[in-house]
Amino acid sequence: MIIWGSTGKEKTVDSSEFFCPKCREETGCSIVRVSRYFTLYFIPLFPLETLGEYVRCDDCQSEYSPDVLDLTREEFEKATAPWTCTGCGNKNASGCDSCLSCKRPRSDVDIFLE
Ligand SMILES: [Zn+2]
Ligand SMILES: [Zn+2]
Repeated sequence: MIIWGSTGKEKTVDSSEFFCPKCREETGCSIVRVSRYFTLYFIPLFPLETLGEYVRCDDCQSEYSPDVLDLTREEFEKATAPWTCTGCGNKNASGCDSCLSCKRPRSDVDIFLE
């Protein structure tokens, strides 16, 4: 009896440098491609299709979408910086979509800044 099937297999296709949001510093990363392999007797023989790619930090082993390669330290810090409500002056954490004090939505602030 011939046993065949397919399996997902990961392969490091490239290495690069990127800004890791978790390490909060520039560090090395591996670009990993996940492919579906044709297997015979559970041995992967050849790739059938590419399922996707992800980026893995060499330091903390966190996995990210390849979009993270475009992220710079400046963009990250801007995205995570606290913002000040224009309505009441309250400082809010970057993750808050609305002011913790007066409930004004953050989008109002962004429009105001433009
Ligand atoms: Zn990291
Ligand atoms: Zn406010």
